[in-house]
Amino acid sequence: MVYPVPASAIDDEVRRAIAKALRKDEAAVTLDASIIEDLGGTSLDFLDITFRLEQAFGIKLPHNLLVDQIEELFGEGTAVDAAGKLTPGAIEVVRLRLGDHERLGGELFADEVPALVTTRALASGVKEILATLPAACACGASAWKKGDGVKVTCGACGKAPTFTDGDTLTQGWLRTAAKEKNLFAVA
Ligand SMILES: [Zn+2]
Repeated sequence: MVYPVPASAIDDEVRRAIAKALRKDEAAVTLDASIIEDLGGTSLDFLDITFRLEQAFGIKLPHNLLVDQIEELFGEGTAVDAAGKLTPGAIEVVRLRLGDHERLGGELFADEVPALVTTRALASGVKEILATLPAACACGASAWKKGDGVKVTCGACGKAPTFTDGDTLTQGWLRTAAKEKNLFAVA
């Protein structure tokens, strides 16, 4: 179901959440900015940003790290080797999720992955969840309309929709991507 709020308004809300969490001017939060490298964010700031986005949209973002999700699904050592470096399969997953980056051409340590997260990557994660908007509300009506800010509500009963949560969504995506691209083949 198409979310009844324009993509540009979703991007702006994500930029606003990041700006507030980092106490930055919103204009500095461009779509291609790395939260850590360009905006000086920390892992604690990621928690703050996540909380703000969940409140603003009424969604649950993924709370597990990508590498942890991979190892949970495909087994220990499938995402990170003994030296702490990402496996080729995990690098491919990072490229697909976070966009291409010069650093993905070489070795990448697991703890370097957060630095690759940009405003755009966060916004696309939000949009992915919003795209799970059900066709109809639990009351039976198909009458989603824009509510407060970037939220939607049912035009018939006024309730908020239930979206698929971020961790569940990422897991499903990982299973599909691994099959299609033949990543993490289990011996
Ligand atoms: Zn309803």
